[in-house]
Amino acid sequence: MKITEKIDEIRNIVSEWRAAGLSVGLVPTMGFLHEGHKSLIERAVSSNDRVIVSDFVNPMQFGPSEDLGSYPRDLDQDEKLCESAGADVIFHPAPSEMYNDDFSSFVDMTTLTGGLCGRTRPIHFRGVCTVITKLLNITTPDRAYFGQKDAQQLAVIMHMVSDLNFDTEIIGCPSIREADGLAKSSRNTYLSANERAAATILSKALGEGRAMLGSAVTSGSPVTADAITATIRKVIESEPLAKIDYVEAVSWPGLEPIETADGPLLCAVAVYIGKTRLIDNFISE
Ligand code: AMP
Repeated sequence: MKITEKIDEIRNIVSEWRAAGLSVGLVPTMGFLHEGHKSLIERAVSSNDRVIVSDFVNPMQFGPSEDLGSYPRDLDQDEKLCESAGADVIFHPAPSEMYNDDFSSFVDMTTLTGGLCGRTRPIHFRGVCTVITKLLNITTPDRAYFGQKDAQQLAVIMHMVSDLNFDTEIIGCPSIREADGLAKSSRNTYLSANERAAATILSKALGEGRAMLGSAVTSGSPVTADAITATIRKVIESEPLAKIDYVEAVSWPGLEPIETADGPLLCAVAVYIGKTRLIDNFISE
């Protein structure tokens, strides 16, 4: 498996694949890869002749007080995981390769990005949309793979790709979890032992919300979105180390406010465990 840092080189590699009639899958990541990323790569390998994993901690999607400097990195480990999952190339550019000193063009969205994570991370999705646009332009994949773990990101990218006519199919993939339910995340490495134990409250709380929705569907009497989020909040508030950023139920994939939970919906939470901000969700379609 090859690692390249250069845009020209990855373009040449893709051109050769195209000339040979091969299909291409892209898995965009920020590295420090885990089983969640691996599931996306394996899914890409199963449906494409060649697979590129981009491994780039994108400075543009971090706010000034966020964890850009401390974000974990381990290219050797990433290489091993990509190789074992069957990827063909890792694209690992330096920030200067992606952003010239005079970089001044951004991809922004007027819907979908203001709520949920966008409320406390106002520049985040502009950075995500801009870097994904660049990665799609550089690698021109047939398919690109994103986790439902970052559900708002998935909705934003699906919408952007449709708005801007990218010739790439966006594939959403299920969240991969630890045995105790915690969604796998590169940021889990920030947690102390106590915090790691407390972090299971996110998936427990979402489980209660999902169960409430399930009984409403079974009984045929719809429940309100507020009732579901109140149940989830109560469970999270029972954990002293947890501080809620948001708990919301919105339509899926439009991310619009809803009153009654009787259609496709996303129920999403962001919670600080100590200083670490974790997100999780469930989607009911
Ligand atoms: P990141 O490196 O955190 O930017 O994530 C890269 C991609 O992997 C995104 O599409 C994420 O949604 C996806 N991803 C991260 N964690 C998980 C997980 N636990 N299960 C499935 N996909 C994930």
